[in-house]
Amino acid sequence: MLQQVNGHSSGSDAQGRESLREDLQEFLGGEVPLHQLDDLTKVNPVTLETESAKGTSASVLRCLQARYTADTFYTNAGCTLVALNPFKPVPQLYSPELMREYHAAPQPQKLKPHIFTVGEQTYRNVRSLIEPVNQSIVVSGESGAGKTWTSRCLMKFYAVVAASPTSWESHKIAERIEQRILNSNPVMEAFGNACTLRNNNSSRFGKFIQLQLNRDHQMTGAAIQTYLLEKTRVACQDSTERNFHIFYQICKGASADERLQWHLPEGAAFSWLPNPERTLEEDCFEVTREAMLHLGIDAPTQNNIFQALAGLLHLGNIRFADSGDEAQPCRPMDDGAVRTSALLLRLPEDPLLETLRIRTIRAGRQQQVFRKPCSQAECDTRRDCLAKLVYARLFDWLVSVINSSVCADPASWTTFIGLLDVYGFESFPHNSLEQLCINYANEKLQQHFVAHYLRAQQEEYAVEGLEWSFVNYQDNQTCLDLIEGSPISICSLINEECRLNRPSSAAQLQTRIESALAGSPCLGHNKLSPEPSFIVLHYAGSVRYHTAGLVEKNKDPIPPELTRLLQQSQDPLLKVLFPADPEEKSQEEPSGQSRAPVLTVVSKFKASLEQLLQVLQATTPHYIRCIKPNSQGRAQALHREEVLNQLEACGLVETIHISAAGFPIRVSHRTFVERYASLRRLHPPPWALVDFAVSRLRISFGSLCPQRGTGQLEVVRALRPQKCRGQSTIGT
Ligand code: ATP
Ligand code: MG
Repeated sequence: MLQQVNGHSSGSDAQGRESLREDLQEFLGGEVPLHQLDDLTKVNPVTLETESAKGTSASVLRCLQARYTADTFYTNAGCTLVALNPFKPVPQLYSPELMREYHAAPQPQKLKPHIFTVGEQTYRNVRSLIEPVNQSIVVSGESGAGKTWTSRCLMKFYAVVAASPTSWESHKIAERIEQRILNSNPVMEAFGNACTLRNNNSSRFGKFIQLQLNRDHQMTGAAIQTYLLEKTRVACQDSTERNFHIFYQICKGASADERLQWHLPEGAAFSWLPNPERTLEEDCFEVTREAMLHLGIDAPTQNNIFQALAGLLHLGNIRFADSGDEAQPCRPMDDGAVRTSALLLRLPEDPLLETLRIRTIRAGRQQQVFRKPCSQAECDTRRDCLAKLVYARLFDWLVSVINSSVCADPASWTTFIGLLDVYGFESFPHNSLEQLCINYANEKLQQHFVAHYLRAQQEEYAVEGLEWSFVNYQDNQTCLDLIEGSPISICSLINEECRLNRPSSAAQLQTRIESALAGSPCLGHNKLSPEPSFIVLHYAGSVRYHTAGLVEKNKDPIPPELTRLLQQSQDPLLKVLFPADPEEKSQEEPSGQSRAPVLTVVSKFKASLEQLLQVLQATTPHYIRCIKPNSQGRAQALHREEVLNQLEACGLVETIHISAAGFPIRVSHRTFVERYASLRRLHPPPWALVDFAVSRLRISFGSLCPQRGTGQLEVVRALRPQKCRGQSTIGT
């Protein structure tokens, strides 16, 4: 339920009045005279809603649209803050002065809705003298909606309001810890963000940052956890998108000396560097370097990192030609690319070529080693796999270095505020394992949200003395059972295919899933599908997942020869990323059924998700739902259909259903009297509206009610004095 706070204007007057009139007419089933509307708009700026889901979404949408037109980008929706992306600079909305204003306000929730209200509320909760509880803010929304922007702004907010008085003295740079924590953003974004069709600065990983506070509630450190980096992007980019920003930064920002050293002549073409001519704000190499320096990554280490990245670019230029003879390995089409990448990665050239072209297999009782030349496609896969392996390890290593630079000593902090910047629900024409993981995470977070929301509502009703129970409310457990349940679920079936390591077609996987899980109401009917797939009915909509390549992606196989090759590197960075095995046991790829159980992508993701939820469950959560007003990134343009889809996908419509099942509108007794007093002055009084308010809108007084426990009855008394015993309180 969208509520306005303190009667701030709901957009242009004409639009606001028109939308209110439409709602009233729809509800009352007749014309509403304008003079009545004039009186009503003065006292009740809340956008009314009808019972149906469609009507609810439509009125929410109208309210958001009116506010967006009036440059009001934040709206409260129960315990959620809806954030519309302005797609234009609004510096006055994020100034340190405004941060301080929200921080100093006696009741920040009485100021205009803002991310700073959420920021300040969480900060007050951790400072509570009675019961300080760790807090978390879950920022969600689709790509380009503004999650990262919002998280960054919240970090800046805490850097201002929870600033530490002392500076840290290390790495020869004296600085405040909050500045260092802020410096993690450009580094993480350079290595983990990329320009996609939907967002020029799209985060290709999920992030949970824990801001650690000491006894005096000052920020003393932070810890970052990342999820599911899209490492395939290193070696495979859509022709309309780009690789990770850092590759463009080094190619554009390297000095003449560095160009020589990293073999990056001006204008050099790299097949893994599409659209190099597109220059973005995010391409600033200097900013990344400077931030790395502040995080303790010194110039020589940076040099190693950038050299290795240049090595990956040259690796991507290696092309193979089929030898025409199965017994002969493929030929590299350009020896120069092999030589340069070997040089930059400080790998021996021949073993590099050999590893890319020849597979070693152990078979038979004696575990004999066989060498099998790879096909051209297999060579390409091995080359890509090598790049993904290096990049993913480098990214994880960077996160650990950043953590060691910003993480406070456990003894020095007592509470934390967690910020979760997580990918929103995804549904594309083609969905695979990535979307399954992302939507699985969203189902988990939605369940967590609903549980929290219902609990919070029940507690509030108990305080109000209202009798209510959500007995009929079904959460999304059935869908989660389908995805992750035991003993059989989509995840378990995909994992089993990996474990059995048997040849299995996409069609077979579809049949297995559909027959084993036929009883689940969340498995959609999959008729007339041209490609093997299955459908999951998520809380946010149904998604068709294609089964081709799913098992292979879940295995994410790394040929052991690749790891062994990288262990031979003379590069100090690669030596850290790929330490030599303590015992030199033979690691040739085994054949047949003897493979050790693999830790699949799904299993790893599930484990990290469970860990995250454990952390979230131990906190008081707050929710910010970012909404993208249009897919072109244009200011002042709100596309209703697109926004409606997002309201559904982020669970807002479902929240409204839950909310509508209870008492969705909370007003203090005083506000209530002030707002509705004029109803009695209308002739004749709109009794239908009164009934609507009482029976449908379910107004709850909120904790400021002077006579707690009177709840609904008080509303009836106030609005229909002649039908109730006792005196009306209106006007008193
Ligand atoms: P992804 O899931 O792809 O990472 P995201 O939700 O993190 O997307 P952001 O990168 O935060 O999206 O935002 C996309 C762009 O929208 C930003 O680069 C910025 O240009 C603009 N933007 C977002 N929020 C705001 C804001 N509050 N004010 C001005 N511009 C904004
Ligand atoms: Mg982002």
